[in-house]
Amino acid sequence: MAKVLIIGAGGVGAVVAHKCASVPEVFTEIMLASRTKEKADRIAAAMDKGRIQTAKVDADNVRETVALIQSFKPDLLINVALPYQDLPLMDACLATKTNYMDTANYEPKDVAKFEYKWQWAYHDRFKEAGIMALLGCGFDPGVTGIYTAYAAKHHFDEIHCLDIVDCNAGDHGKAFATNFNPEINIREITQKGKYWENGQWIEVEPISIHKPINYPNIGEKESYLLYHEELESLVKNYPTLKRARFWMTFGQKYITVLSVLQEIGMTSIKPVIYEGKEIVPLQFLKAVLPEPSSLGAGYRGQTSIGCQITGIKEGKEQTYYIWNNCDHEAAFKDTGAQAISYTTGVPAMLGAKMLLTNHWNGCGVFNVEEFDPDPFMAEIGKYGLPWNEKINCPLPVNL
Ligand code: NDP
Repeated sequence: MAKVLIIGAGGVGAVVAHKCASVPEVFTEIMLASRTKEKADRIAAAMDKGRIQTAKVDADNVRETVALIQSFKPDLLINVALPYQDLPLMDACLATKTNYMDTANYEPKDVAKFEYKWQWAYHDRFKEAGIMALLGCGFDPGVTGIYTAYAAKHHFDEIHCLDIVDCNAGDHGKAFATNFNPEINIREITQKGKYWENGQWIEVEPISIHKPINYPNIGEKESYLLYHEELESLVKNYPTLKRARFWMTFGQKYITVLSVLQEIGMTSIKPVIYEGKEIVPLQFLKAVLPEPSSLGAGYRGQTSIGCQITGIKEGKEQTYYIWNNCDHEAAFKDTGAQAISYTTGVPAMLGAKMLLTNHWNGCGVFNVEEFDPDPFMAEIGKYGLPWNEKINCPLPVNL
């Protein structure tokens, strides 16, 4: 039925390719293109399905992507390269009238700042071109927005407080590694924290607010308040929210190593001259850290990501918690990837399916919570990410 072009052959790209290949009734032709073609070739070969074509593309170069789109003619481009490529890829989609989706919002290379404003600004142009851009369809952002939409639709008349809680209780056995692209991950964590309260954003020092949160099947884990991109769109799309926060677990060792790296300047994005050549310390650090796609074998333990919501239903206070636990070993068995790549890649495939089967349709730029959550929620379990819910029970985050 549809041709899909996946850009980025990293940890997430491998899962998206694998999952699309397992749904041939929707994804009839698949191409995986990346900067390093050999990585795409390895992913295609490992699947032994013979259905994945590969190509080399520099997604920063709009003309190169346009040429690739014109030769393959996809119905949808799935961007699972890096956030830096969002705008050039959206430009290539506009030039060729191709639908677009991604799992992370744009951030400029030289400023560690992510915001939807750059991508939302494409709305009218996508609308005029008669195509859709679906933004942030991984797990967080992605499923967390869909969980919120599902809660708002079925369990509340008004939602008031949202806490997104993200725990990785897995152990990959490495001294220090990040579960998704190291450069993007470290830029995110070393930024100031930010949350929404009573109509305004409150900014706090990086990882300065933390508390133990009780995760299902895992127990209490110290969790740190971070700014995360879905807060921006959820606060806009659910104006009744009085407070919206995002929490993520980190082990003490991770925080200690990260603060040493920060103190000695290794996380800086300001170029320095090394042996007559300009290098960016964080990009050099990325080059020596393990790749996210290499962490799968031997990773043990679970992730738990969910949304805790309070609000009003039929005049009464109500609390609701919805979550998924994903096992690293099970994710590896299914796709050869660890659970962070898996929990991102599975919703990306299903979001693509929603768009291509017209369950989610419209012209313009949209965040996932703007669509009906029901068809997505009905299917996500069968693709590997079942969900659980609790109504009016003790919540993970003590309010
Ligand atoms: P990886 O670093 O493993 O993979 C990124 C891939 O993109 C690499 O193969 C890389 O190529 C390729 N790439 C980078 N620049 C270009 C370019 N200019 N042109 C073509 N290809 C390029 O990262 P992940 O797979 O872990 O993450 C992928 C994306 O998913 C990121 O944007 C990340 O933020 C997002 N993400 C979203 C989550 C969510 O829940 N919403 C959670 C986790 C990740 P090369 O190998 O040559 O470097």
